[in-house]
Amino acid sequence: MLSTPKRRANDNDKIISTRSASKRAKKDEEDISFDFKYTLSNLGKYVFLSQSLTILFLQGLGLISKEKKCPDCSQLMVLKADHDVDKYHWYCKCRSKTITIRKNSFFENSKLQLSTIIKIVYCFFNNMPQQYAIHEAEISDDISKSSHTIIDWYNFSRDACRESLFMNNQQIGGPGVVVEIDESAFGKRKYNRGRIRQTQWVFGGVERGSNKLFLVSVPNRSKKTLWPIITKYIKPGTTIISDCWKSYKGLNGFNGYKHFTVNHSENFVDPTTGYHTNKIEGSWFHVKRHLPKTGAKRHLLNSYFYSFMYKRIYGKRQDGFKDFLQNIAKVFDPNSEQPNFYYDDSNNIPLYDQIQDIVGAEEDTDYEEYDDNDMDEINFFLFDN
Ligand SMILES: [Zn+2]
Repeated sequence: MLSTPKRRANDNDKIISTRSASKRAKKDEEDISFDFKYTLSNLGKYVFLSQSLTILFLQGLGLISKEKKCPDCSQLMVLKADHDVDKYHWYCKCRSKTITIRKNSFFENSKLQLSTIIKIVYCFFNNMPQQYAIHEAEISDDISKSSHTIIDWYNFSRDACRESLFMNNQQIGGPGVVVEIDESAFGKRKYNRGRIRQTQWVFGGVERGSNKLFLVSVPNRSKKTLWPIITKYIKPGTTIISDCWKSYKGLNGFNGYKHFTVNHSENFVDPTTGYHTNKIEGSWFHVKRHLPKTGAKRHLLNSYFYSFMYKRIYGKRQDGFKDFLQNIAKVFDPNSEQPNFYYDDSNNIPLYDQIQDIVGAEEDTDYEEYDDNDMDEINFFLFDN
């Protein structure tokens, strides 16, 4: 099985990184800078031409290892050609070990071409619907198999957004900064007034003067639910503007917050103070448009929000996609045995105990009511499994 690659022993493409790397190979590596805007057409033109270029490109981003030590003899391994999907594997002269180049990487559990995976992640990052991604990534003729593959990688990419977000401090606001907060009902408008199962409350905040925001799906709008989210996502000393929802009472002075309200039932802009929450109101429209037209599974809502947040905050940069790939490399570090997860869903929340004291034995049941005013124009189906 290895006979053909062996016969190609003189092919310069054969070994692309070795401990005693030839000067020529080193020089080639230095010459390749991949210094262009990462678009699908540029990646096709400059990177996906050959497997060795693709590997160099991914090594440069940190997505796959630049070197690997043999677990048996501790010598540096070399990349050797083969006939498998990646066309190379790590090989040690002691002949005891071969290791896949995907070891511990973002790509580890997939059989797709590396270039195909990058194309799918690119489509995800650029908000292409999944049916376009099937076409762009040229996965397979088997449509149902392809669409499952795309769904898996889109899910995986949204998880990468979550980790990339929490890799950095995700708190917004601060002294002198204004954050607008609001709750919105997501889902399909109810036709029979009795049942509300199709709907889901979402709580969010946006920082004025920047793209920063947070969004969280919540079981209800009680103080007990909302306050831990407020202290988790909003820095002490922030000026917070909200509607007059009862759960926000007492927020002024808590954690250094300055809290102002707008009475929405009367005005969009408070005529005496000039306070408004137009920015968060506008954000709901964009978030809802970001969700799949065919509907969303309720338990995946937060993951859609993380991808929305990530793209909103970081996606508009010139090198947004490159940054995203580099962030993925920090989470799925091929040199580390375990992925580095940053998201913490424990009760590790600022002022948690103080909040518990304030809300006391508050019941959540008062807060589950919806009315049609809470529903915006864009509605979609929520699936419970
Ligand atoms: Zn060895």
